[in-house]
Amino acid sequence: MSATRYEARVKGTVQGVGFRPFVFRLATELGLAGSVRNTAEGVVIEVEGERARADEFLRRLETEAPPLARIASVETRALEPDGLSEFCIIESEARAQPTALIPPDVALCADCAREIADPGDRRFGYPFTNCTNCGPRFSIVRGIPYDRPQTTMAPFEMCAECAREYRDPADRRFHAEPVACPACGPELFLDGERAGDGVGRVARVLREGKVVAIKGLGGYHLACDARSAEAVEALRARKGRGLKPFAIMVRDMEEARRVGEVSAEAEALLTSPESPVVIMPSKVGSGLAEGIATRQNTVGAMLPYTPLHRLLLDRSPPALVMTSGNLAEEPIEHRDEEAKQKLGPIADYILSHNREIAVPCDDSVVRVDGNLVIPMRRARGYVPRSVPVDYEGPPVLAVGGQTKNTFCLLREGEAILSQHIGDLDTAEVLHYFGRAVRHFEELFETKPEIVAHDLHPGYLSTQWAKSLEGVRLVPVQHHHAHVVSVMAEVGLEGPVIGVAYDGTGYGADGTVWGGEILIADRREYRRAFHLREVRLPGGEGAIRRPGRMALSYLIDAFGMEEGIARARRLMPDLTDEEARVVARQVERGINSPACSSMGRFFDGVAALLGATPEATYEGQPAMELEAMCGAHAETCAPYRFAVGQGVIDAREVVRTVVQDLERALDQGEIAARFHETVAAFTVDVCRRLHEEGAPGDVVLCGGVMQNARLVRRLLVLLEQAGLRPHIHREVPPNDGGMSLGQGVVAAAGER
Ligand SMILES: [Zn+2]
Ligand SMILES: [Zn+2]
Repeated sequence: MSATRYEARVKGTVQGVGFRPFVFRLATELGLAGSVRNTAEGVVIEVEGERARADEFLRRLETEAPPLARIASVETRALEPDGLSEFCIIESEARAQPTALIPPDVALCADCAREIADPGDRRFGYPFTNCTNCGPRFSIVRGIPYDRPQTTMAPFEMCAECAREYRDPADRRFHAEPVACPACGPELFLDGERAGDGVGRVARVLREGKVVAIKGLGGYHLACDARSAEAVEALRARKGRGLKPFAIMVRDMEEARRVGEVSAEAEALLTSPESPVVIMPSKVGSGLAEGIATRQNTVGAMLPYTPLHRLLLDRSPPALVMTSGNLAEEPIEHRDEEAKQKLGPIADYILSHNREIAVPCDDSVVRVDGNLVIPMRRARGYVPRSVPVDYEGPPVLAVGGQTKNTFCLLREGEAILSQHIGDLDTAEVLHYFGRAVRHFEELFETKPEIVAHDLHPGYLSTQWAKSLEGVRLVPVQHHHAHVVSVMAEVGLEGPVIGVAYDGTGYGADGTVWGGEILIADRREYRRAFHLREVRLPGGEGAIRRPGRMALSYLIDAFGMEEGIARARRLMPDLTDEEARVVARQVERGINSPACSSMGRFFDGVAALLGATPEATYEGQPAMELEAMCGAHAETCAPYRFAVGQGVIDAREVVRTVVQDLERALDQGEIAARFHETVAAFTVDVCRRLHEEGAPGDVVLCGGVMQNARLVRRLLVLLEQAGLRPHIHREVPPNDGGMSLGQGVVAAAGER
């Protein structure tokens, strides 16, 4: 029998995820001696013992690592055997990168789920059960280092039994900072009163059709029975939310399959530790109230991701609306007093608990259509996981955009995106933004010297950046930021062909951009092509009333008089007054900037095809247009378009759409052909640019790239054209992802 000893240096996400206890258990099981300790780069293991067993250790180290660990590399080297007889965990002084130590919040694990369902277990029915593999993390951290006194679990003194588990390296709860049990941990409160079986009572009133505010992991939700049309209507009316679809929480996978088309990718995400809301094609006859997602053919569902939610859904209706508990345009509520004040009038009951939420964090949202995965909102479960970037300069803060704001902290080796902050339209959200920035700076011990911001002078994020002292400001063009954000996430240095299609972004020439095809690298870009400009009549007003946008396209395609006449015929909701005002604005250019936005083009065509005359949330007309395509084949003949001189001229597209409408062609068919047309002219332009010498990498980004039908066709057609398309994997293509690109552009300027 030959003894051997070696050292293994493990890099990756191996701290704060139960890695050392796992190593301890594995080594002990195999009868090996040695040690394991954290270092600044990861974990260092020394093992000594029989060669065969040491080899088995190394093999199982990678195959059996804890669920949250991500091993990037293992480097081994042989050492002289030392005659060791024990294996131990060394508590090290070395401090790792702070992000390595503050993991995202993690959905309830299978072991904890079993315990709360087991009448013989001491955590039976306990809604705050967690372990090293699951539970609250980022949302309870007040400061560093990440250990219990620095979390909102500090006021709860561990009982003897929990303390034993916490100290025992062989236990699943070894160093699980939020460890708790019914004897020592947080408790539930119903309408301010201690509520023993609060879950049972809340389940009952939900069955009766009541609305309940429920304090969860990253904030409050508003919940009601998703099958009750009355309850859903009541919630919608009281919340003042327009028609924006509600997310639901379903009891289990069986229920998920009842409401949606669950692909393998969707199932993997639903059951992942991140546990996002997954938007999938909805099923007809699911029993869900119509008002959950009006005029949509998708449904956004998630599984219970905390023990509280699991216990509740076991007894409540099998599908609950679970929408962020906030007033319209305000951040998610996370403080008990404010929640009572603001959600009290909306909810019939408030179920809360006494574990404070240090950092509010909305649910993350991912769209899945077949095997296509499109991140829509990145928050709980993902933040503060960082994106690796090759950078060594001074720290950068990128403040993001105006809508769906996130910010990004960039420093040596990594970019850390914030959770979804919201639309920076109100003082409340701006205040939340400022607090979140400060929290990140403290948590990650980073003082930014460079601040990247959008070119738009009116964005509150831009104004906030300009009010800072002692930093260097770097303005970054909106669509360049979008393109570089994808490049950073997928690891491209560029140059690339960047297709940035979104609502509105401030162009370098002061006009409104949004249908842009750029040649870009991480430092600079050239605007190679853009959608032909039309007037954006009355700015914001045209976004709220998409019919006005449609009129602007009609005037461009047919001329003034004929354009107005056709608009009146096709869109009965457009009033005389509106048509007159828009015509005057377009003619004289008053308060009507030139605009090349692809998002507005979708809005305009949607309005022509009978989508909502009044958009109650961003992107609503375009989403309805995608939904109209229904089951119409994706492969169909595109409309005629013209491309030349850096401009995509779609006037002929508008004329043919109108012709088809006047021939009373099926609107689904027109919508489908329109999608195919946008894919076709995009690929046409990319092919031309490639033939002229542009590289073959094509980056797809901007809010329009949340359109699954369009993205799928672009991926297929670009590949057929011999090009290499790239999309985001975890970062949203909408404005929620642009802070990453801003930061990386600013950092590239430092090289
Ligand atoms: Zn667990
Ligand atoms: Zn306890």
